[in-house]
Amino acid sequence: MNVVVCVKQIPDPAQPGQLDPGSKTLKREGKLILDDSDAYGVEMALLLAEKAGGGEVTLVSMAPNGETSGLRTALAMGAAKAILVSDDSLAGTDALGTAKVLAAAIKRAEPDLIVAATESTDGYTGTLPVQVAEILGLPSVTFAKSVDVADGKVKVNRQTEAGYDEVECPLPALITVTAGVVEPRYPSFKGIMAARSKPVEQLTVADLGLSADQVGAAGARQEVVDVTAAEERKAGEVITDEGDAHERVVAFLDQLKLI
Ligand SMILES: Cc1cc2nc3c(=O)[nH]c(=O)nc-3n(C[C@H](O)[C@H](O)[C@H](O)COP(=O)(O)OP(=O)(O)OC[C@H]3O[C@@H](n4cnc5c(N)ncnc54)[C@H](O)[C@@H]3O)c2cc1C
Repeated sequence: MNVVVCVKQIPDPAQPGQLDPGSKTLKREGKLILDDSDAYGVEMALLLAEKAGGGEVTLVSMAPNGETSGLRTALAMGAAKAILVSDDSLAGTDALGTAKVLAAAIKRAEPDLIVAATESTDGYTGTLPVQVAEILGLPSVTFAKSVDVADGKVKVNRQTEAGYDEVECPLPALITVTAGVVEPRYPSFKGIMAARSKPVEQLTVADLGLSADQVGAAGARQEVVDVTAAEERKAGEVITDEGDAHERVVAFLDQLKLI
């Protein structure tokens, strides 16, 4: 079974980059890392391919400056190869433009299953995967908390507020997985060494048969109109036990409707 995983490479959240004051988007100039959200998708894809006893996992990413650091991490986990779309004309591409690019790249890999995360850590619109499915004319199942493939179908327990729904659809299909769906493996030393020589096909917008007006700032229908710094986290309240600490902790949790 051939599985494609959409892998977003993002600025390290521990050292967030600068905002470009003009476009109000994140500057993605330095090293980019594998988005933690996508480590779950990579692990799920590896497990499904292993269980199927054949086929391989291909990574697909769109990122600036020919960046492959995040892809190498996922290759070190065990993916066989990667497709990277990187092109100066992609600067300012919005979510739909990104979906068009990824869909065109994914088509080349002829997958049975496409895996993405429910949302990325830096953009988190949560809209990209279903747009890819729509463009490719494939069924999609989102918020998977467990996944199985059998008899040409993907069977998913789909997270809901009340519990989960059991959903199945025919392959090929696209699924999005939630964080915690599986425990991502740590790349072994052997995996890290092997990843260095695994193939990463680098493509441009023209290679995908897309025109410049479908992508980039020119093709974008989304615009970031304002950016505001998140409110600083307030210092916590220290409760000194004078015999009533348990009551005050309970009252605090009650006020937050946590109990
Ligand atoms: C105004 C604007 C300007 C932008 N400028 C640029 C730019 O200059 N350069 C650029 O590269 N991108 C640019 N983007 C694209 C952006 O970084 C996202 O890739 C895209 O908008 C998807 O949004 P998201 O992260 O909210 O996806 P979500 O829907 O939250 O992501 C869900 C999942 O989809 C997959 N996914 C999302 N993005 C990618 C990706 N890029 N590659 C592979 N898988 C992915 C991952 O599995 C991810 O976990 C821009 C977006 C906007 C709105």
